[in-house]
Parts: sequence; C-alpha cells; structure tokens
Amino acid sequence: MTDNQDTRAALKESAGVDVSHCYQCGKCSAGCVQAERMDYPPSYVMRLLQTGDPADYRTALSSRTIWLCLNCENCYQRCPMSIDIPAVMDALRQQALREGVQHRDARKIIAFHRAFLAQVKNTGRLYEVGMEAQYKLSTGEVFQDVSLVPSMLSKGKLGLFPEGIKDRKAMRRIFDAAASRTKGSAGRTSGNGKEKKKEDER
Ligand code: SF4
Ligand code: SF4
Repeated sequence: MTDNQDTRAALKESAGVDVSHCYQCGKCSAGCVQAERMDYPPSYVMRLLQTGDPADYRTALSSRTIWLCLNCENCYQRCPMSIDIPAVMDALRQQALREGVQHRDARKIIAFHRAFLAQVKNTGRLYEVGMEAQYKLSTGEVFQDVSLVPSMLSKGKLGLFPEGIKDRKAMRRIFDAAASRTKGSAGRTSGNGKEKKKEDER
C-alpha cells in the first residue's frame, strides 16, 4: 500500500472490510478490553482509516493500538455494522511489518510471537524453554526471571526437553502453506469464525 493508493480500497482487499460502513458510534471502543492501554481506541483507528488521508493511514499503521489488539472480537460482536475490526488490525500489523513502521513497543510483542511460532513449527507443540530462550536472546533480556526456572522445573511447570509430534514435517507444510497464502492475499493470518458469523447473518 503506498501513499498514492486509496487506503480504504486496499483495506477492503486485504482485510475484506469496508471501513466506510463505520458510523462512529463508539461501541467497539467502549467494549474493548485493551482500550485503556492503546494510544487510539478502535473507533478512532477506524476514523483514521476512513478519511483516505495518507497521513491518517500512517498514524494508524504506526500506532501502538494495532499491536495491543488481542483479537478477542468483543468489538466485532458489539458493532452494529458487523465491522471486522480484528481483521483490520491484523491487516495493519502485516502492513506495518512490510513497511517497517511498527511502533517501538511492538518489538517485544513481535519477538514473542516469532519465538512462539518457531517452536510450534519445529516440534508441533509449544516448547516453553526453547521459546523463552529465543525470546530472551532476541530481546536482550537474557537474565530476566531466570531465578524462577529451578522452582518451575521442580514443580513440573517447565519441561527441559521438547515433546514433539510424530509428523513434524506435516506441521512445517502447514506453516509453509499459510506463509504462501498470506503472501498471495496480503491479508490476515488468523482464522476465527468470522466467516461463520457472516453466514449466520445471511
Ligand atoms: S462499533 Fe462499529 S460502527 Fe461503531 S464505531 Fe466501532 S466500528 Fe464503527
Ligand atoms: S479484538 Fe482488539 S480492538 Fe477488538 S475488542 Fe478485542 S482487543 Fe479491542
């Protein structure tokens, strides 16, 4: 998406959402579990996207808000226009990464996300020790919470060795397929039943 393109049309293509349908009632922001921590509440982000002004789009793209969204769907369920805000947030996160304009607070969130997915891709399960090691190395917080490790190990809360699934190659194929699909559509990566809601409403 470049400054010269119509950002609303691009979002419609990448997220499947027409932001012009938002009439700024604010119900999404009122029900958002993360609103207090965000720099802009979800309804404000929708407004930034509606204007079609590249500067407003840039503000949304570099906001802290898009990285704090949990995809909980409270906003989507409350929206009288059934606007899929989590899909918009997802599309904005992907675009922010592509353009390298992510908010500085996103660094640890992205590092955690990557460490989590790397373990699942490699073993088919979440291997906490491997994930923590990767996360700490990538953020430089190597010694944070290290004192908790012995007691967690003794209580069986952490396993020293990974427990993988039998067919690890299958898991990698799933990741590869998801990656190529994302590249092809430049769209969202999270499936969460929205299609079903739309079907139910028909
Ligand atoms: S609830 Fe829907 S219509 Fe209302 S402000 Fe939020 S996105 Fe817009
Ligand atoms: S999906 Fe994101 S924007 Fe919507 S209510 Fe949850 S945290 Fe807030």
